Amino acid sequence: MPSLGLIIEATLVMITLMLISIKAGFVDPGGLISSFAVGYTIYVFGDRLFFVPLLIFYIIAGLMTKLRYEEKRLKGAAEEKLGARGWRNVLANGGVATTIVCMAAYTNNLLRPEFLAAYLGAISTAYADTLATEIGLLYPREPRLITNMKPVPAGTPGGVSPYGTAAQLLSAFTIVPATMLFLPTGDWSTVFFNLLVIVLASSFLGSAFDSLMGATMQAVYRCKICGKTTEKRTHCNTEAQLLRGIKYIDNNMVNLIATAVGAVIAYMLVYSGAISFEIS
Ligand SMILES: [Zn+2]
Repeated sequence: MPSLGLIIEATLVMITLMLISIKAGFVDPGGLISSFAVGYTIYVFGDRLFFVPLLIFYIIAGLMTKLRYEEKRLKGAAEEKLGARGWRNVLANGGVATTIVCMAAYTNNLLRPEFLAAYLGAISTAYADTLATEIGLLYPREPRLITNMKPVPAGTPGGVSPYGTAAQLLSAFTIVPATMLFLPTGDWSTVFFNLLVIVLASSFLGSAFDSLMGATMQAVYRCKICGKTTEKRTHCNTEAQLLRGIKYIDNNMVNLIATAVGAVIAYMLVYSGAISFEIS
């Protein structure tokens, strides 16, 4: 059971964070409630060790979504509502991580390396993918589709760019130091290096899987009014025409599946013995 002190701390930190989120426009009302639920659950059950990496993801992804928003909007590829995330987006990015923390806490396995690895695999995939999209959109040329490497319009699901790939490194090099802050370990350098390998491998493969699903299965539409390619079912206030993919597979579902893939890869890297370290 979490201590009263931790519950009070989590409540105060989460209320402060939610006030900042409203002020900064990181989330819409639905996104606010769901991010409170995700953050509070992870804080209370996973303590600071699990909460701080999530916090880094939330703040940096929020800021990067806002970064040069007007430029992304002109490309027709910006998030809607000035980049305020809705509840579907929050649960797609945080649902798997929350489940892992609850399972690990319930089975008393929070400090088993494979559970920490799986958790980091899930959130670093979501984080890397978000940064790859938001920073990738600033790439001056067209991204290329991951399947055939042909240039596609900015914002096309499955599109990859050098900026996006560099952004994945940024995600790993911020989330691993954040994890180290509250890690009860004496062997700092070994754990840091191992976590970095796990996060780089799982987020890179998880994001690649995300792009592959984005390029093949995710529904892509064409706007009947402005002619733009979009992943939204409606554009210019009109129902758009399905161009490729499966109608019910949207970006959020692809993200949710990709975070699960990232978690499984990270878990297996430790469980198989390929990477081994102690955290307590
Ligand atoms: Zn349109």
